[in-house]
Amino acid sequence: MTSIPQLYEAYLQCNGVTTDTRNILPGQLFVALKGPNFNGNAFAEKALAAGAKYALIDEPEFAVNAQTLLVPNALEALQQLGLHHRRQLNIPVLAITGSNGKTTTKELVHAVLATQYKTYTTKGNLNNHIGVPLTLLSILPDAEMAVIEMGANHQKEIAAYCSYTEPTHGLITNCGKAHLEGFGGVEGVRKGKGELFDWLRSSNGVAFICDDFDYFHGMSQGLHEIHWYGTNNGEVIGKVLASEPFLQVSVERGMNTSIINSQLVGAYNVYNVLVAATVGKYFGISDANIVHAIEGYTPTNSRSQLMQKNGNHIILDAYNANPTSMAAAIDNFAKLQAPNKILFLGGMMELGEESTQEHAQLIALIQQHQWKDVILVGGDFANLPHPFRYFNNSEEAASWWNAQQSAGNYLLVKGSRSMQMEKIVA
Ligand code: ATP
Ligand code: MG
Repeated sequence: MTSIPQLYEAYLQCNGVTTDTRNILPGQLFVALKGPNFNGNAFAEKALAAGAKYALIDEPEFAVNAQTLLVPNALEALQQLGLHHRRQLNIPVLAITGSNGKTTTKELVHAVLATQYKTYTTKGNLNNHIGVPLTLLSILPDAEMAVIEMGANHQKEIAAYCSYTEPTHGLITNCGKAHLEGFGGVEGVRKGKGELFDWLRSSNGVAFICDDFDYFHGMSQGLHEIHWYGTNNGEVIGKVLASEPFLQVSVERGMNTSIINSQLVGAYNVYNVLVAATVGKYFGISDANIVHAIEGYTPTNSRSQLMQKNGNHIILDAYNANPTSMAAAIDNFAKLQAPNKILFLGGMMELGEESTQEHAQLIALIQQHQWKDVILVGGDFANLPHPFRYFNNSEEAASWWNAQQSAGNYLLVKGSRSMQMEKIVA
């Protein structure tokens, strides 16, 4: 068996770590993970043939030569390797979790910190039990700072990430109605996300917390050091000046009054902007650099992206959806001073027994406003009465929409990832 220190010696000889033989680069460390339908061990030989320097395996029969390193459990070894590496780095590590806005916040915080420090961060959305250790192992010795996104849909997950990430700083964007099924309701979400605060409490870490959400006042009890932000109280206070279409925020305290003209759609992004400013202030980034970095960030991957297509204005927010982010997006869209507003809303997944009720509440919310048209797609919308257009999937909605040949509209397109709502405007 290969010990973690031995594995670390091997890792240091490699240039990067991968779990996927399809895009292996010469000199990488291949880690053989198992999934429901595959056994990475079976690819170890192929990985070495493709140029991997070492292959980390956990089934002895797949050992090929001295380049195959056997451990009892490859996933756990990956995580422990991440921890071992993290401990060699004497840098602040900021962990980001929450129900909504983690990736946006991570990108904004990274943009701000990178103006002054060599900052490593999670690539894309690699925020799970594999992505977090891979992110740690992607940090090179020149690092001055790291920002790690942590996604979770059940209890004890964040605690596990913290055990091998050992963050020194942390923030929870919000605790909303997301992954209710796995967490066991809203209280469960708070408990699960709160595991980050538990870690910070036991390690005297620093937290950045939004004062606007009452639940954080209870959750934050006993924390060693807190930096508050919000739209009313805190070290950094900001207000939404405009959100049509892009969010403009004034930051009135903590920074010399600054106006930030972001390229973000949706007033809810004010919190993502404010926490990035708060973290930036804390680490000594100048006001000018904070403003410049936030203004320079444009979202990708259907995360509240603004597009023009065939004479229509589209807010494409098809990356994911849950009751909290749906309500935020609809409220924001309702406030937009624009004609011919059309909603394309896909079903919301992973809500367990609260699913029907949450979809019904969303239908009630939509009915409070005037729209040119509302198109509901799939999910639990199928089982509820409503006066709107309905399609079973986004392909059917797309062919209906394409046949309309309608221009001069404002569209909000949002739904859970699996609904693939982006197909409607593809
Ligand atoms: P995931 O759980 O998939 O990693 P995430 O938490 O990283 O998601 P983002 O990818 O940043 O979240 O944003 C996804 C969507 O969530 C956005 O397009 C927007 O609709 C919504 N959202 C972003 N920030 C907030 C916020 N602060 N409050 C409510 N909704 C938000
Ligand atoms: Mg994310």
